[in-house]
Amino acid sequence: MSAAIQIAPPDLRTELINWQERLEASTKQSAEGFELSSLLREVKAAIERLGQPDSYGVCQVCHDLIGQAAMNADPLARNCLSCLTPEQLEELQEDLDRAWLVQGDLLPKQDLKFNGWEVSYAYEPAGPVSGDYCDLVSTDKGDLYFLIGDVSGKGVAASFLMGRLHAIFRSLIGEGLGVAQLVERANQVFAETTMRPYYATLVCGKASADGNVEICNAGHCPPLVLCGGAVSAIDSNGFPVGMFRQKTYTSSHVRIGKGDRLLLYTDGLSEARDSQSAEYGATRLRSLLSESHHLPAGALVGRLLEDVHTFSSGLPISDDLTVMAIEMVGH
Ligand SMILES: [Zn+2]
Repeated sequence: MSAAIQIAPPDLRTELINWQERLEASTKQSAEGFELSSLLREVKAAIERLGQPDSYGVCQVCHDLIGQAAMNADPLARNCLSCLTPEQLEELQEDLDRAWLVQGDLLPKQDLKFNGWEVSYAYEPAGPVSGDYCDLVSTDKGDLYFLIGDVSGKGVAASFLMGRLHAIFRSLIGEGLGVAQLVERANQVFAETTMRPYYATLVCGKASADGNVEICNAGHCPPLVLCGGAVSAIDSNGFPVGMFRQKTYTSSHVRIGKGDRLLLYTDGLSEARDSQSAEYGATRLRSLLSESHHLPAGALVGRLLEDVHTFSSGLPISDDLTVMAIEMVGH
């Protein structure tokens, strides 16, 4: 995510010491103490390397700098990628493939139909795994919760946090809170359990069978309402989740009539670049939606993806991309 709010990269020393303390506490209590001990040894070794000039963040093989982004993604890294042996590279690739399979399991059912609503989505990672968050949860009361979000950063670290958001919301949704309180509670839990300065922008919405939708937008790209050819945006209701522990959120209410659609997306869509580095942008997105407003949810998502890939001339996407279309098809 390239969020509007810029935050300094994490202070790795503080984070490593924080990890060490948590691991020391956990190894004392945990039955999995053995595995944790070896991780604890690695963390301690990394803290030691921090104290030696030209050691931490430097490849132990070629002695080049590993790079800030790679160190943020893995603060324990000791080699740059080009110095891994073919066996190590293969092992890493297999690990990432498994991680992607696990992440795929966290995604909701495709083309979900529930209580008059039909939802389709596309979920494309920029790398081997994604830091985007996307979920749909139907309740016994007949409501459909929809969630889309974007964790700061990319890659494996962001995908862990995506999994954490998934678990937090899944466990809170059963409590029957309004969406603003739901986001408030999720914000507290996420902020308390996540290394600073990671955070996530997200939209949490609840669609009722009668077409009423309640939405809380925590610093995310504005959801768009498509009513005939008209496109309107729902503004933000607060800060991204995880930034400040004590934050209150509000919610917005919209009525979605039969045949109207709601479109949610991450900035991997709106900030996609062409070969001249121009941005896809809100204007192109809105005019495409205005032309394509009659398409069913699945076809609408397909049309958007086709357009953004045409725009970027088939270049690989540079940020995780998620698009979700929610259509009121009626009963
Ligand atoms: Zn190297």
